[in-house]
Amino acid sequence: MLTLFRYKKIIGIKFKFFFKIFFFSYLLIFANYLSAQTLNEIRNIRAGNHDSFFRVVVETSKKVETSIKLKKDPYSVIIKIPESLWRANTTPRKGNFLHKNIPIFYTFKNDEIGKTNLTLSINKPFSLDKFYWLDKSGGGKRLVMDIYYSSETDFLVTQKSFNDFSKQELESVLSAKPKTLEKNLTLFKGQKNDQLITNNDKKIRTNSNGNNLLKSRTNFLVVIDPGHGGKDPGAIGYSKSLEKDVNLYAAKILYNQLNNIEGIKAFLTRSEDEFIELRERYKIAQRLKADIFISLHSDGSKIESASGYSIFSLNNDPDFNEAEFYKNENNQKVLDNVILEEETLATQYVLYKIYKREKRNYSIKLKNLILEEFKTLPANSRGWKQRNFAVLQEPITPSVLIEMGFITNKKEEKNLNDPKYISNLVERISIAVLKYKNAYLKWYTIAQQLPSLF
Ligand SMILES: [Zn+2]
Repeated sequence: MLTLFRYKKIIGIKFKFFFKIFFFSYLLIFANYLSAQTLNEIRNIRAGNHDSFFRVVVETSKKVETSIKLKKDPYSVIIKIPESLWRANTTPRKGNFLHKNIPIFYTFKNDEIGKTNLTLSINKPFSLDKFYWLDKSGGGKRLVMDIYYSSETDFLVTQKSFNDFSKQELESVLSAKPKTLEKNLTLFKGQKNDQLITNNDKKIRTNSNGNNLLKSRTNFLVVIDPGHGGKDPGAIGYSKSLEKDVNLYAAKILYNQLNNIEGIKAFLTRSEDEFIELRERYKIAQRLKADIFISLHSDGSKIESASGYSIFSLNNDPDFNEAEFYKNENNQKVLDNVILEEETLATQYVLYKIYKREKRNYSIKLKNLILEEFKTLPANSRGWKQRNFAVLQEPITPSVLIEMGFITNKKEEKNLNDPKYISNLVERISIAVLKYKNAYLKWYTIAQQLPSLF
């Protein structure tokens, strides 16, 4: 086991997750069942500060079966072992190691029948590196674990791996074929941090300068997607105005408004009358590491009286089997450009699930803020709907699609072609975006910490 861990150290975090899983299966399988007759004794607990990690050592009378759970608020690891007696006579049952500059608080508790919980609370997000048993000279065993500070995301992944994985899930993940993903972050040709995406920017490039540019950015990035364009006019109005034009006009107004707000940087998926594939639209958000994605549309209906604005976000499809989805190579296209290959397959899977779930949650927060601002708009609200629209499929960026009104409705077509009405509507989106930025930097921060993705 020690050899494994040494090996792991050399190859780096790449295999961390893989080893975590196997190591814990190993622990469970080879736990010592033989000496169940006498209760285990906890003889001591101590901790050491090793610069990049904290090592916690629990001295016991024997090696016992262990299971682990991670919790937040405070960040803790709960080690469940068979009922044990506290025999550390000079050490209290709960305490901290602050005298050694180690911000870990431990609690020893027999709070489940037949089970002893040893809880270690840590002041920041953390991950577990090593977790193993050693013989103790002079008899007894030592349970050794290394705890290191990590990102919120790493904590979540670690937590997932210990708390939520069913055996089946794990097997399906581990038996799935490894996949190769695009290595370099791709950008639009000529893309600059403060440049609009133009007609000429369609070709992608793989350039390390671009990578640095994005890494160093500090702005909150909004990708605005004017729906349709080029050969695809979208809905056609009562007086024959075209959805694609209305959408582009509104998008440009929004683009200008947002770029006038300090700390916000807006991009357009198209700035001219051109056709862009739906997938290509959200890939722009992906390449830019956008914080949010807003697609602007105008509704159409055969019923002339149909009216009102609506807002869409991705379906929270409960039957969506992400393991199956992930195994299907065609579906993997959704993950194009997400640079996950430095992670193990299992980590990729967990990350993907977390992203998608979080993305949905944050999309809902964004749509709530927009709907709130729209309340006083002189128009009928058709409210919020969840749909698996292709343009909303980007796995990380919170995304909404706004139908600004019915172009097929005589009165609303007039509004949609009225610069005053549009700037009033768009201003409400800008305010909502600013409120979102101020309220939910959390997701932004998490996303920024994903080293292998960005
Ligand atoms: Zn449309």
